[in-house]
Amino acid sequence: MNGSFWANPQTHVKSLNKHVVVDLIRFVPGGISRAELSRHLGLTRAAVSSIINDLSGAGMVQEASGSNSSGRRPAVLEIVAEQGYVVGVDMGATHITALVADYSARVIREREIAIDINLGPEVCLEQLDRVVQQVVAEAGLQMVDINAIGLGVPGPVVIDRGVVSAPPIMPGWDDFPIRDTMQKKWGCTVRINNDAELGALGEWAYGAGRGESNLAYIKVGSGVGAGLMFDSNIYHGTTGSAGEIGHITLSENGPLCTCGNRGCLEAYAGGNAIAKRAMEEVKRGRRTQLVGFGDFYRITAKDVIMAARNGDLLSQQILAEAGSHLGTAIASLVNLFNPSIVVVGGGVAQSGDLLLDPIRSTVGNRSLAVAAKAVRISSALLGRRASAMGAVVQALSHSLHQFVE
Ligand SMILES: [Zn+2]
Repeated sequence: MNGSFWANPQTHVKSLNKHVVVDLIRFVPGGISRAELSRHLGLTRAAVSSIINDLSGAGMVQEASGSNSSGRRPAVLEIVAEQGYVVGVDMGATHITALVADYSARVIREREIAIDINLGPEVCLEQLDRVVQQVVAEAGLQMVDINAIGLGVPGPVVIDRGVVSAPPIMPGWDDFPIRDTMQKKWGCTVRINNDAELGALGEWAYGAGRGESNLAYIKVGSGVGAGLMFDSNIYHGTTGSAGEIGHITLSENGPLCTCGNRGCLEAYAGGNAIAKRAMEEVKRGRRTQLVGFGDFYRITAKDVIMAARNGDLLSQQILAEAGSHLGTAIASLVNLFNPSIVVVGGGVAQSGDLLLDPIRSTVGNRSLAVAAKAVRISSALLGRRASAMGAVVQALSHSLHQFVE
């Protein structure tokens, strides 16, 4: 605690309120006016005006143009978009998505490449650097124009050290200084989070969960993970591994999982498990369109989703079973955590209602009525962009709050 806090507590309170005002302007769906701010914060109109004058004097906030045109609603406030730029990156097991966004979180440019996380940090971080430099150049910017970069990784993150800790699907990455390496390379602040946490944050800020306080985001990709928002904040847990729903045990003697245990949700419902199941059925001689997909040792979850959409019964059945397993685990999560919304995202969620309907009915049957009635189960509105948009939120939080004294 520094001296100025005690010397002038009123300045400190005003500064705290400024941070809250900045976040309300960023995140209230439909925007917020001066009058609504004063009601929401219990501050006088004069106090709110003083805060807004400071923020607009710093070039951060302005009255949204055109928001007054109906004459029924006072002008809402907005962040000045052109004030600066950030990058949001989602690094998954098999892809990197990088977005350049302005300060209003509008995406200017996007690029996605395929990677293999098993190749380890030296190779993958080189690819990461290249795709970020590329997307920044395509946006007509230089790295010095980028104020901060948010980065999602598919493992448990130790936030204050910027490393991943014993990640089940990232061999060779344990304790590697990801944040420090990239900060040195990029010359700006880098914030690292778990990819499912960022999916939760992205969907909460700009997607299906806008305006909700308690949200769970389930990322069904090659593996299965969850991000949790409690009272509009990411819940990391003690060591950053909260939300590892993929390693909840569904059956004590079930199939072997990447984490070394048996019968985990991920071993039944992750993309890799779905692909494996399909290959086994094809080998067994089941009638299916998947036979036409060529080498059945290379059937992917994507192939299963495509065939299911095409009316293939086996593929539909495999996805429905995965959905029902997901529903069993989500029902426990709903009982424990009582969220108002569960958002299902990640590559496998591209199968839509084929996966969501069995999730909904299993949650309805298996969780307590009082919790099941309160929860909405929705697919991710931001689709594959959810985690990268969460990374944009993190980068913007750093950039915008940096300027508030
Ligand atoms: Zn496991």
